[in-house]
Amino acid sequence: MESPVNVAEEMTASSQRRCFDSAPCIWCGAATFDPSLEHILPEALGCPPGFVLSNDVCAKCNNGFGHLDRALLRQFELITFLGNVPRKRGKAPSLDSWSSILGRYTEAGPELHINGGPGPAEAFGKRLKPAQATKDLENLSFKATDGFATVKFSQRFGDDPKFVRALYKVAFGVAVYWLGPAVASTPEMAAVKKFVRKGRGEFSAVLIAGSRRHDHHFEPPYREEDTAYLAVGMRIFGIDFVTDFDPGQRLTAKMETLLTAQRHQNWTILPPCR
Ligand SMILES: [Zn+2]
Repeated sequence: MESPVNVAEEMTASSQRRCFDSAPCIWCGAATFDPSLEHILPEALGCPPGFVLSNDVCAKCNNGFGHLDRALLRQFELITFLGNVPRKRGKAPSLDSWSSILGRYTEAGPELHINGGPGPAEAFGKRLKPAQATKDLENLSFKATDGFATVKFSQRFGDDPKFVRALYKVAFGVAVYWLGPAVASTPEMAAVKKFVRKGRGEFSAVLIAGSRRHDHHFEPPYREEDTAYLAVGMRIFGIDFVTDFDPGQRLTAKMETLLTAQRHQNWTILPPCR
């Protein structure tokens, strides 16, 4: 593996690196198109400055991926809200994608509403379902003692099939960012491209949690010696993901064996088995 590179620190170098000839749209292959600016990580998730594809994605493809960006945002929305990560054009974050929990930044600061049930509740004019009736949160508990209140809950993570597709969309963008748009039309990229665009094929992501920092980190793609397929490692809000562009998922299988043998804690393969 190559050593990881922090994208934020690489931005000066990247303007030289990103000198590629214009090429067809990396997703649909259209030869001529109005390019639209694509943030490799959605802006609402704090895309590092300059970490964009400015001439490689047609407007139609960019707009068509909105549902994947929303799936990604939903998984990280609680983190962005609690971490006060600004939305597009510097807007304050809000928590809107869940049905039992709602958050807004008001003049008084962040305001978070969770419906602990059993009945319905309302916040900011919106109805909230009881958490127990949704898949939003688990192990919700509330304890008040001596003027202190403690709310605890766990968030289910990664069980939306679109989430894995969305991760691969980011990883594909990372590959194009580092290697140039020509890589997108190589035969080794066809399967992963189809998975992101149409949801066809079975691709998994290795998730390794554990970092206490909520940072982003995007490594250049790497390729194991015995394969033609790329893999991309990336950290989003302190959670590490490895995406394997091999439709046979051989690197994923190898990592699973390794992590099991090492008795590594806090990892899983997404999507989860049902
Ligand atoms: Zn396109």
